[in-house]
Amino acid sequence: MNGFWQRTLVILAALALGASAAHAGKLDEVKSRGKLIAGVKDSQPPFGYVDEQTRQIVGFEIDICAALAKKLGVGLELKPVTSATRIPMLEQGAIDLIAATMTHKIEREEKIDFSITYFPATQKLLVHKDSGIKSVADLAGKKVGSAKGSTSEQNIKKAQPECTVVSFETYPEAFLALKQGKVAAVTTDAPILLGIRNSDDHPEQWIIVGEDIAAEPYGIGLPENDSDFRDFVNITLMEMWKSGEYQQIYAKWFGPDTKFPLPLNWTMEIWP
Ligand code: GLU
Repeated sequence: MNGFWQRTLVILAALALGASAAHAGKLDEVKSRGKLIAGVKDSQPPFGYVDEQTRQIVGFEIDICAALAKKLGVGLELKPVTSATRIPMLEQGAIDLIAATMTHKIEREEKIDFSITYFPATQKLLVHKDSGIKSVADLAGKKVGSAKGSTSEQNIKKAQPECTVVSFETYPEAFLALKQGKVAAVTTDAPILLGIRNSDDHPEQWIIVGEDIAAEPYGIGLPENDSDFRDFVNITLMEMWKSGEYQQIYAKWFGPDTKFPLPLNWTMEIWP
């Protein structure tokens, strides 16, 4: 072989290696790294929040991520995200997936992919019990708190064009504004509002009201165009539902004896 062909072969081999590295998906990346890096909420009980005793992030979505990591035989690293940072962090590769009360919206499909629904929610209002606010109609001319980058802030603008939406980084900050009288209501998904209300020292002061402003089915956010990884997540979620592991995790965080009782009244999409 002359020098020209030798060099050509070396270049071709390097190109092939480069191509296979670029195509090695998240599954291989996570396995060779030895840990799954999940973007989760850290101030949204009971989905993802810091446990006061252990100072660790715990919650329903953390347990779902732990089950995915266990299935892969790898460790789990949790990275806190907000509603606004979660999609950019996934796009940049800072996290492998998002399990952070994120609604599967078609418009979000432009940037990332989603798993099947693992939690169904609807958007409502949290108000003081004596506020007189009972529905979206009562918000005309009022300030409403929500989170930046959420569907909640978009939906309420459409549902009540006559309110002023004040957006915060997190929902607890919006709730603080409600307590300080800076906003008349907080709006987001009802289970998040339940988490905020029932974590307060005086939950009886606050009520969740209003019509279902929007359907908010949660999907796990996944990197765009990685069907092996998406299959793994979808199939694992379905296996968890079929084995009862999902229901066990659900009962741990939302069961009748917990701080956030919420009956399990839906069925996961199960492929035959
Ligand atoms: N589920 C809604 C969303 O994805 C609101 C909750 C949140 O901001 O995480 O935007």
